[in-house]
Amino acid sequence: MSKTISLLGSTGSIGRQTLEVARELGLRVAALTANQSVDLLEQQAREFLPGLVVLGDMASAMDLAGRLKGLPIRVAYGMEGLIEAASLPEADTVVTAVVGMVGLRPTLAAIEKGKRIALANKETLVCAGELVMAAADRCGAEIVPVDSEHSAIFQCLQGCRDRGEVRKLILTCSGGPFYGKTFEELEGMTREKALRHPNWSMGAKITVDCATLMNKGLEFIEAMRLYRVTPDQIQVVIHRQSIVHSLVEYRDGAVLAQLGTPDMRLPIRYALTWPHRTQSPAEPLDLLNCPPLTFAPPDLAAFPSLGLAMDCARTGGTSCAILNGANEAAVGLFLEGKIGFNQIPRLVKSALDRLEVKWNPELADILEADQASRRVVLEESK
Ligand code: MG
Repeated sequence: MSKTISLLGSTGSIGRQTLEVARELGLRVAALTANQSVDLLEQQAREFLPGLVVLGDMASAMDLAGRLKGLPIRVAYGMEGLIEAASLPEADTVVTAVVGMVGLRPTLAAIEKGKRIALANKETLVCAGELVMAAADRCGAEIVPVDSEHSAIFQCLQGCRDRGEVRKLILTCSGGPFYGKTFEELEGMTREKALRHPNWSMGAKITVDCATLMNKGLEFIEAMRLYRVTPDQIQVVIHRQSIVHSLVEYRDGAVLAQLGTPDMRLPIRYALTWPHRTQSPAEPLDLLNCPPLTFAPPDLAAFPSLGLAMDCARTGGTSCAILNGANEAAVGLFLEGKIGFNQIPRLVKSALDRLEVKWNPELADILEADQASRRVVLEESK
């Protein structure tokens, strides 16, 4: 069980919910980091009194340092600050709740120190899954997923003594706000409509990923890395109610599922308390009052992002980093209102078509693939 956490990305949706759980569990907080939200980070720092807070740039760090004067809190900034927050000796657990590739180097730093990683930054495993898992093996670091689907699978695997007994992982997917629409109908979809998720409340980037189904594609790759299965052992099913969070099928035909109300605080709590379970104030699932549970196949023609991600899972090498970098850049442009909804998968596809895949990549190759794919997207969107 965690006692002291460093929380990377404390002002985002997962970060704020992690602090709620930390408050309930009475955990100590060694470090808090945010990109730009100085006001909220100041408020959090005053409550949790971490030894270190980190912001994205020097100007906001200086602003915050002025506001926290007199308190025993050091203020740092940038990637160096993030890596320091991830490596602090007093933290036994690092919660990686930052969005995007920026999480990769701090996660590797925390793994090198043998910390438990409560992993909420899926891009890390998507881009550099093999490196991250190999480092975790070498350093004896536990990686406990926070993503609800991967937490569900992790929970269904408790007590499994031989991973060879697992036949299949079944990832559930809400289908997002545009479920049932055709590719043509999606052409004119706006930012406002894409940001209206039916079941989960999340940050903007991941909510758009849920609308394109790229989120499920990234989770497909994440599951493959985390549980060391082949792409053929993962099935995606649309489950509109977001109550069955994912399932594991064993070779004897038994299928285990984890169910619950859609509330991220449950997988966050489990990542911090595993292998134990603690009392939670949240409302449990009421089976007699929940909607009928339905399952359907995903529509890969309407949502090509999911198919692209599944292809990259099979290709391997730097293709997943290209996919992820191109998607981050394209979603950024969509959120700025510069491109249409269907441009997101089109731009991701052209980055994958144009860039060469490198095999057995080192960290430098992955970072380069990420940058190159962003450049392609910016060029082609003009
Ligand atoms: Mg998820």
